[in-house]
Amino acid sequence: ISKIILLTQTFICNSRVMMLLGQLERMNGDIVRQAETARQVTAKILHLIQTQEKSGKEVMSKGSSGMEVILASLENTRDVQTILNILSILTELLTVGRGRRVGVFVSKGGTGILFHTLLSASKEMPPSEELMLQLHSLLAKVGPKDRKFGVAARLSGALNVTVNLIKQNLQNPKLLLPCLQVLRVYSTNSVNAISLGKNGVVELLFKVLAPYSKKNTSLVALDALGALLKSKTNARRAADGGYVPILLALYADWHRNDARHRHMLIRKGLLVCLRNITNIKLGRKAFVEADGMRVLYNSSTECLPVRTLDPLVNTSSLIMRKCFPKKRLPLPTIQSAFLFQLPYVPGTGPAGRTYSQGPGVDDVVDESDDNDEADTENDTENEEDEKDQQSPNDDIETDLNKLHPKKGPCRPYEELRVYERFFVELSEDFQVSQVSVLIRRSPPRPIIVPTAQAFSPNTRSLSRAYTRTPSPDHREGPGARAGGRIVGRSGRSAASRRGGGAHRGETRRRQRDQADPLAAAFGGFVRATLGRRGSNWSSDCGSEGPEDEAAEGAVLEVPDTALLLPLHDLDLYVEMVKGTLSVPQYAEVAYPDYFGHVAPTFREPLLERVYGVQRAKIFQDIERLIHPNDIVDKVVYDLDIPSCPVIEDDGESLKFNSQFESGNLRKAVQVRKFEYDLVLNSDINSNHYHQWFYFEVSGMKVGTTYRFNIINCEKSNSQFNYGMQALMYSVQEAISGSPRWVRTGTDICYYKNHFARSSIAAGGLKGKSYYTLTFSINFKHKDDVCYFAYHYPYTYSTLKMHLSKLEALRTPQIYLRQDVLCETLGGNGCPLLTITAMPESNSNDHICQFRNRPLIFLSARVHPGETNASWVMKGTLEFLMGSSPLANSLRESYIFKIVPMLNPDGVINGNHRCSLSGEDLNRQWQSPNLEAPLVFCDYHGHSRKKNVFMYGCSVKETVWQSNISATSSDLQEDLAYRALPKILSQIAPAFSMASCSFVVERSKESTARVVVWREIGVQRSYTMESTLCGCDQGKYKGLQIGTRELEEMGAQFCVALLRLKRLTGLRNHQHLLDLESDIIGSQAKVVSCPTTYVLDEDEPSFLEAIDYSAESNDEDVEAENEHAAEVRTYLSM
Ligand SMILES: [Zn+2]
Repeated sequence: ISKIILLTQTFICNSRVMMLLGQLERMNGDIVRQAETARQVTAKILHLIQTQEKSGKEVMSKGSSGMEVILASLENTRDVQTILNILSILTELLTVGRGRRVGVFVSKGGTGILFHTLLSASKEMPPSEELMLQLHSLLAKVGPKDRKFGVAARLSGALNVTVNLIKQNLQNPKLLLPCLQVLRVYSTNSVNAISLGKNGVVELLFKVLAPYSKKNTSLVALDALGALLKSKTNARRAADGGYVPILLALYADWHRNDARHRHMLIRKGLLVCLRNITNIKLGRKAFVEADGMRVLYNSSTECLPVRTLDPLVNTSSLIMRKCFPKKRLPLPTIQSAFLFQLPYVPGTGPAGRTYSQGPGVDDVVDESDDNDEADTENDTENEEDEKDQQSPNDDIETDLNKLHPKKGPCRPYEELRVYERFFVELSEDFQVSQVSVLIRRSPPRPIIVPTAQAFSPNTRSLSRAYTRTPSPDHREGPGARAGGRIVGRSGRSAASRRGGGAHRGETRRRQRDQADPLAAAFGGFVRATLGRRGSNWSSDCGSEGPEDEAAEGAVLEVPDTALLLPLHDLDLYVEMVKGTLSVPQYAEVAYPDYFGHVAPTFREPLLERVYGVQRAKIFQDIERLIHPNDIVDKVVYDLDIPSCPVIEDDGESLKFNSQFESGNLRKAVQVRKFEYDLVLNSDINSNHYHQWFYFEVSGMKVGTTYRFNIINCEKSNSQFNYGMQALMYSVQEAISGSPRWVRTGTDICYYKNHFARSSIAAGGLKGKSYYTLTFSINFKHKDDVCYFAYHYPYTYSTLKMHLSKLEALRTPQIYLRQDVLCETLGGNGCPLLTITAMPESNSNDHICQFRNRPLIFLSARVHPGETNASWVMKGTLEFLMGSSPLANSLRESYIFKIVPMLNPDGVINGNHRCSLSGEDLNRQWQSPNLEAPLVFCDYHGHSRKKNVFMYGCSVKETVWQSNISATSSDLQEDLAYRALPKILSQIAPAFSMASCSFVVERSKESTARVVVWREIGVQRSYTMESTLCGCDQGKYKGLQIGTRELEEMGAQFCVALLRLKRLTGLRNHQHLLDLESDIIGSQAKVVSCPTTYVLDEDEPSFLEAIDYSAESNDEDVEAENEHAAEVRTYLSM
């Protein structure tokens, strides 16, 4: 009776199975002696579990100690029959449910006990086959669910037991199968993989693989082999052992015989093995030697029509891309085609490395590229299993000291006096003009933006008509060190195209200049004129004749855009171009910049991507290798040779040109009849950074599809894979009344290609490739001249034209001053605008109010390729100079300091990211006002995300995203940083709050945003990123972005500043917190809705893999960093 009471207490559920378990538990201490009973009890339990579902449930129910009892019995017993019974019980139990039961089993240490059992059983001679079978079946079941499985197997010595069993049972599929299954799990641990490889398991598995006729165990063996071959040592072993041709032959055999596609997984398994072997150079070599390219190309072509075979085609294409022999970019050097001798070359940094590179060094491919790369891995016994997944939070700043912005000025006033000239308004008293002249260090700015003096022979004559009144002393400030000017001069004389002295093009242009400067400036202009007359105006590029005709008075019919584009003026544009100094001494103007761009009224939806485009393009690329006879390989444009452009016109090729402001095309090669490989030029004094493109095409045929491939892209992914199209401008369309850029192109995709990227270009990394952007075009008009660009171009000359037109909008109430921040290395002025309202009167009160207006600092185009930032800036400037009451009110509230184009040289010369120094502007300015700006915002463009959004800085949000522990005093921070983006998300349709981030990352610690926040203490310090692609939320969801939307964004930014002011009240910072909190919502709400993490890709996973070795490089990290040194001093106080 007492026993029964005890049992009911132990097992609340007084069922039969629980009673039996209780009995087993009591026996456990002495199970060896009670072998017979144990055998009977376990058999009964097994029977119950096999016949009654509820028994199993009871054993596995929460709170039950059933599993412990079973495992303890397994551990203690030595009786084979009892062990078999228990293994059967476990098998029954673990088969049911979706892994929860296995989880319980693992958590109770079941795996270890199984290995223990396996080891003792293996010592019996001969080991019980039945036992081994059961053990391996169970191990195969629990292995994938146990993170420590691989380590436990190795430490217990189980690897060898399994391998020996396989060796002894190659002809015994019944036992072989579960052993292979377990081996597969072992092999996923990289240390195990190496150890198994050493023991000959790779070779062993090839004995198991079989041709089509013998299907049996191949699949599992392939899975195990695939896992083993992930180890480079094993891959080398397989390549050395001659197994690549064997795998290819097996694949071809299965492909041929598996006509009804029933064995897709086996075929895929073979490809996975090939994929892993070809991760090493030796494997790729073996693959190519075994004619693998042709085998996979042919089989894939046959698979293409069957959609279910896509995984095979995709894996094949991946292998072929990897093994495609690396080609050299068709260039003499990856350094820019244009030379610009720097006066001072910093030892470190990209320019320094470029200069220190000896002559004759081939930087296009690595000399040692043919040598075997380091394919051996460190066979360290580091437990990969223990290694935690790399947290995405690694980049978050966790040093609390670095998370606290400085407060108050840190530089003595005297030191800053030299910058006073940029802040004339702070000393101006508006009383008597003569007095103010005495006070000011420099006289009022001229109306026209001063640009550099015309030093070069070919602009001297042009600039005569160009009014400039540069003040004698405005160049003396530190912002315009004398060096800049001298550099400009000597630099230009040193500037030339690489690979030829005074080549014909240059000479030609000089002659042209002497004959007629205007015609020289407008090679393009003239051609259009001829086009209208019906001559063959596309064939004359380079000849002198047409210019002469133009001088005789040809008239161009230009689109009348005055009403639609109030800031555009064709004649004014010409004037501005004359003062723009480029390194290549461009003398032509591109039509789109001349005519202007009238944003289309139709919608331009994101392009829906057709499945299989990338694959089709890659197959076409592979065909270059398979069918070499189709390849034309004709160079049609080449900046590196003196006679560029190079083609004699046989009517069979397109003509290219990019020798105009912001143009960037270095070379064009006709690959096939209607296909061209295009190579972009590197930024000057740099050997990479290309993404921006802008070039002209003519000589097209109508009714054919042309394929363009930009083959030296560098980023690992692009919005061109997610709906973005390139821009095209047709001169024919412009002349017939539609002067505009339109999103265009089909079959667009962006993928890793077979052009080798040298370690010099890849930051020291070997074996990297470039990426191809490909798109196809059908031209609408015969004899058209079309332009293609990465994004809506916005040249420096355009900026000057816009600024000049904005000057004309000035009213007596508007205070507008244009200073020249500095002269760039290239000799161009970098404008600084001051916009505010004139004081209401000369009274002290009003002047005091004027001087005390908070400062807003805005800048754009530090990265020349991000032209969208200029369009946003245009919107901002137009709004600020407007006559609306809002604009008025805004001017009365703030003093705006705006540098609309931080990098004019980069913009002019078609750079993507750098200035002429190959790094960044080396001119700086500093703000001497005693109060830090209320808002700092640097406008940028983002090529990998949609929408417009901001990066800001917040201690709290950084701490929340990381694991650092912080005291509440560390977290004292008001929510001011959130107000502006929040308002923007309410009023600007393109703006997305969800895309914003306020986390301070280590990698971005030297960006303008972080520096201004940390070192100057500006709470509202932002980078505003505008998409180059389009929006996935709001009013513009599903549409590509255009200039209208970008300009609207710039205007709404102004409106938001006004709201910010209304909310905060002037200079009442106490108030500010409460009011801003009001619109932001409660603090708790912010906590519950943390911002997105910056590094998160905002794209859905892509249908087709872009790449197999993702090299992630975050958009603005590098560049923002470069920018930062300058910004640090910029505003430092
Ligand atoms: Zn940028």
